[in-house]
Amino acid sequence: MSEPAQRRRQEQEAASSEVAEVAPGVLRLQLPIQFTGLGHVNCYALVDEAGVALVDAGMPGRATWKAIGERLEAAGIELEAVHSVIVTHSHPDHFGSAELLAKRAGADLIVERSFQTWLDRPQPSDSPYVEMARTGRTPWGGIPFEWSRRQRLGHRLARHGLAPYARPPRPTRRLHHGEQLQLAGRSWRALHTPGHTGDHLCLYDEEAGVLLSGDHVLPTITPHIGGITPLADPLGTFAASLAGLLQLGVTTVLPAHGHPFSDLAGRVRQILAHHDRRLASLREAAGGGEESVVELARRLFPARLRGMMAESETYAHLEFLRLRGEAERFERGGELCYRVDSGGGSSATSAALDCGRHS
Ligand SMILES: [Zn+2]
Repeated sequence: MSEPAQRRRQEQEAASSEVAEVAPGVLRLQLPIQFTGLGHVNCYALVDEAGVALVDAGMPGRATWKAIGERLEAAGIELEAVHSVIVTHSHPDHFGSAELLAKRAGADLIVERSFQTWLDRPQPSDSPYVEMARTGRTPWGGIPFEWSRRQRLGHRLARHGLAPYARPPRPTRRLHHGEQLQLAGRSWRALHTPGHTGDHLCLYDEEAGVLLSGDHVLPTITPHIGGITPLADPLGTFAASLAGLLQLGVTTVLPAHGHPFSDLAGRVRQILAHHDRRLASLREAAGGGEESVVELARRLFPARLRGMMAESETYAHLEFLRLRGEAERFERGGELCYRVDSGGGSSATSAALDCGRHS
């Protein structure tokens, strides 16, 4: 996550053991996580006559598995009643326990069409992953990237006794953008919302205006937009998917971290403004000179936030400017460097507005 946490944010609160009905037929079960500073992930249970669909199943591991059991019991849901496990995107706090859960429940495992975790073998089209696996370096040089292939991760998990809890999900169903699902007694539309990851999925209940937003829109934290992704323009793509949501008439947002909220348009504006401020700081930090991604990230982020995620986000912002003719990139001593036009005017907000106009 990309914003410094001066105060405790909703997304950092410890998981509550309370089961709450947050929309008709939709229960929130909070699972504990300790991941990039977050305190919980919301697992939503969509209940109907056919049984239950669970959206996002938390990190891999015994603690999550125990919490899932306790929350299901508190909600009066038998494991066997779970007919679908839906994963919003390929980050471990969302997919970690999904395979085990789907297997034990005999449930379908449902994801977006392009879903792929870093535990899966990279496809030739996912150039950054293939390149990183080959060279052991991030696309911008910088810190050598420990490319944890299946074996290495497997060994580590086995050492901690986690192997059965951490299988990469094997989806049984992959959703296309616009596909309809019958859950909680009504129809939900699958929305492909790339940006935070290339395979991010939201579900939208048109009738009640309820959006299961995953990490695409969070109430008080800006989702990390990184450069290690199959997306060529992660920030521009993210802005476009945010703009797409504003056409829908959403009245209730159920995020994967934090509490439900209603002002989607307001939150989208804040998130875009955050990226616009970051772009402005980047122009200022670059000062019209030629700098490496690593150096620019160092200037933009405070010491405690530096590292891979800061560099990755800086890279995504630099590529956003480059693709709009406001930066040039070149290589210097194995590191990617940029010359940024200090007077450029492109913004995430204008990228989103452009999309809104075209759709
Ligand atoms: Zn998350």
